[in-house]
Amino acid sequence: MHPSRPSLVHILVPVKRAIDYAVKIRIAPGNKGVDTSVKHSMNPFDEIAVEEAVRMREKQGKLVESITAVSIGPPKAVDTIRTALAMGADSGIHITVPEGTVVEPLAVAQAIKKLIERSGNTDLVILGKQAIDDDTGATGGMLAGLTGWSQAAFASKLGVSEDGKVEVTREIDGGLEKIESKLPLILTTDLRLNEPRYASLPNIMKAKKKKIETLKPEDLGLDFTPRLETISVSAPAERQGGGKVETVAELVSKLKEAGVI
Ligand code: AMP
Repeated sequence: MHPSRPSLVHILVPVKRAIDYAVKIRIAPGNKGVDTSVKHSMNPFDEIAVEEAVRMREKQGKLVESITAVSIGPPKAVDTIRTALAMGADSGIHITVPEGTVVEPLAVAQAIKKLIERSGNTDLVILGKQAIDDDTGATGGMLAGLTGWSQAAFASKLGVSEDGKVEVTREIDGGLEKIESKLPLILTTDLRLNEPRYASLPNIMKAKKKKIETLKPEDLGLDFTPRLETISVSAPAERQGGGKVETVAELVSKLKEAGVI
């Protein structure tokens, strides 16, 4: 448990360098993974996470003491951290792994837990609800389990009061659920939480001067050796091409042909 709630909130935002959401995914030769030689950018749910932290400071300046972006990934993951810094995070931590290394959600959660312990003052971790490349959606829950902190998953609205109470609205099937928790808290972002800003050129320039600490897994006493083996990856079945019909009668006859009616 966290000793006692400090008056200022220290936020950690894990940001993953993922295949850009607009890239058409192709299976790599060997059917064990996807082609990663394509454009990458920050996982979209993590942009939402950074935006929420920055908005919290803009709205409640006195409440937020620090926003730290952390990424675990190859050397290029530093670009993802720079994007978070240009959006308004104060500093970054890069845990480097060689290009092509698979870092499983449990390893990410263990690394973030180590960073929380090392900082001694983190109150709030805002993660994306899922990384759009591996779609596991597991890291937030694992981190909550490892830390023993409360978890609010799939937040679509967030409010933090000066006394450290957090009100989270979650989208659930057929409605909304409101929950309240005290800090410290693990939060994961849903799509409608906010619309992330584009970093302005002056802020991109300013971000170049912000500090990024570089660590290796060993520096935190961690071993990222995967526990899972990917057996195979396959593309979804090709969709059969559609056709146009000129009249309702033609539509009805086609539907009959297909055995739909
Ligand atoms: P996942 O459980 O892999 O779907 O990822 C959920 C969230 O965990 C992401 O939206 C990120 O906030 C965080 N995360 C996952 N992998 C990494 C990583 N390599 N570096 C930093 N954050 C990560």
